[in-house]
Amino acid sequence: MKMKRVILVMFVMLFIFSHIGHASNTSIQVSMGGTKVSVRQVPIIMDGKEVITEFPSFVYVDRTLVPIRFVSENYGAKVGWDDETKTAIVTYGDKEARFTIDSNVAIINGEKKLLDKYAIPRLASLGDESARTMVPLRFVTEIFGYEVGWDSEKNLPFINSSQDQDDISLINDISIHTGSAKNRIVVNSTGELEYTTMYLENSKKLVIDIEDAELSLATTKDRPGSIDLDDEVIERVQYSQFSYEPNITRIVVTLKDYENYNITSSNDGTGLIVSFGGNKIGAISQEIINGKQVIVVDGAGHAKMNFMSLKNPERFVIDLLDSTLVGDTYYNYDYELGFIQRIRVSQFLVDDNYDPTDQIVRIVLDIKEGISDPSVKIDTDGDRIIIYPEESLWDNISYINDDDVKIFTINNIVDTEYEVDLDDTSKKLVVTIPSENTNLNEGTIYIRDGFIDKVDIEKDDEETKLSIKFMRLIEYTVLSDTVDNEIILSLERKVNLDKNHKTIVIDPGHGGDKPGAISVRKRFEKDLNLSVSLKLRDKLENLGYNVIMTRDTDVDIDLYERARIANDSDADLFVSIHGNSHINSVHKGIQVLYCPAFNSSVKEGDQHPFAKAIMDALLAGTGAIDKGIIQRPNLVVLRETKMPAVLVETGFISNPEEEELLYTEEYQDIIVDSIVKGIENYLEMN
Ligand SMILES: [Zn+2]
Repeated sequence: MKMKRVILVMFVMLFIFSHIGHASNTSIQVSMGGTKVSVRQVPIIMDGKEVITEFPSFVYVDRTLVPIRFVSENYGAKVGWDDETKTAIVTYGDKEARFTIDSNVAIINGEKKLLDKYAIPRLASLGDESARTMVPLRFVTEIFGYEVGWDSEKNLPFINSSQDQDDISLINDISIHTGSAKNRIVVNSTGELEYTTMYLENSKKLVIDIEDAELSLATTKDRPGSIDLDDEVIERVQYSQFSYEPNITRIVVTLKDYENYNITSSNDGTGLIVSFGGNKIGAISQEIINGKQVIVVDGAGHAKMNFMSLKNPERFVIDLLDSTLVGDTYYNYDYELGFIQRIRVSQFLVDDNYDPTDQIVRIVLDIKEGISDPSVKIDTDGDRIIIYPEESLWDNISYINDDDVKIFTINNIVDTEYEVDLDDTSKKLVVTIPSENTNLNEGTIYIRDGFIDKVDIEKDDEETKLSIKFMRLIEYTVLSDTVDNEIILSLERKVNLDKNHKTIVIDPGHGGDKPGAISVRKRFEKDLNLSVSLKLRDKLENLGYNVIMTRDTDVDIDLYERARIANDSDADLFVSIHGNSHINSVHKGIQVLYCPAFNSSVKEGDQHPFAKAIMDALLAGTGAIDKGIIQRPNLVVLRETKMPAVLVETGFISNPEEEELLYTEEYQDIIVDSIVKGIENYLEMN
């Protein structure tokens, strides 16, 4: 009933809009994720008529994306927005779809669905217009039970809304697939299949009931049938239409003996693959084995594996063949382990490299930026596999960061003497061991957990030196004996009582191959930022603050990484240092940027007072022009940091006079003194 009314309204709308100009089938420039892309604008043809959308629909690498308002305007669905998670929630009758910006997981009626990378919901904008949420046309439309096609003659997508709405899938093929592994049962149909299973122990029968489905085989129509197989696992497969209204197709597999079974959906959801004896991949966990942090994958011990190392971004991919994921079809682990930044696990929708009926669990290890030549070692241990990141460097070293207790251990070949030296100025702790007594491998391990920046190991014939570079002042206790085969260091933050433990993160903008703006005299912004930041660090440390630098050399650090460093170290304040630039060289003065709390999922409270304290002090100290305190809701370092955060644009390096000032020690000192004053004023107020 309701449906009919909606369609009626829709037709009226279409009639009204149908002869308003035809959206041109041309190339347009849209901004997505900070970059401009050229895309082909396409009109959407619904039931033969063009649908006008307030924002253009376009084709992005073979996928048609439509503004999400399209579904509310054309299907009468409601669209809500959860700002915290950046998720659009589309509801229509009892159907609900959730699309999260930049996420490849959509949740349809409570179930996770994977979107391919070109169909990921994105924010897109034209010129200066505000951004719109774009979603894949095929996906949203199919949720509403409409047919989406591609008119190859006109090269345009079309929608057919007058499709049968009763949602019954016709099962048109049940067959046995003999692939590389044991025989699999493949069920194909015209629509998505949902099923329940039960196993009857006495008769060794696996019963699969497929809901809202009708048997419609070419050979036997809707008559029951069977396939005698008699392989090592399956005796026979029988199928029948178990009932009508509700429409249930039943498949009964008689097994020789119970063997664990896996059922997965084929790529487009219209098929089921039933296999036996495959690997069930369970939890992925982080463990410490023999003093090393490792990743353990349960259930993968007997799986055949394909291993790939991919670039841009750098990542390792492990495909477990003949495997299914227990529970959800997608997991994301934020493990920090050596050079591994994150682990993603999914029931992989097979690509051309595999047989369409292959069942593959894909594990992706995302590698931190700036790591060269990472490698992993994989060991099997019974039913599980153990993944050792950068095996050789972590050999004989372990590091446990358990919030209060941080333990660093070095294992040596024999009992040995060693020396431990801490230098507060460079925040380096150096352990020196006679090389003949230890087996450490040379190299650098980046940790960057807000506590340890990195560990360097250097050796010559006589000595092996392991230096730990900290991100803050520390204190340590040696827990091992003066002569010992293990060197155990207990490490903790050096708490500065004077300043009430305040920790300030200083973030020098840009760095490495990202110079930032280039000044009128061809000087790099990144160098100005670093110079001011190092002065600011020294000054704050002299005053007794704990200071953490996101970088203290000329390197590029990912923006999210900068925010993470601050969040992981529970810093109190975050100050990012930049230089400004404008095409019109006349502009000069200071700007202070902050993220309005409403736009940050992690921030509490208003950031403006901090920004104002900094600005007031800077204006008083420098006498520079006030170019304003500005809300910037989408700057990563401001938005993703949990603590009050500002970005100081110290001046315009595109203005000849200000540029000259900015690169002098004297003016930098004034800026630094002012920022310090601003920080102290702000802390006093709070
Ligand atoms: Zn900058």
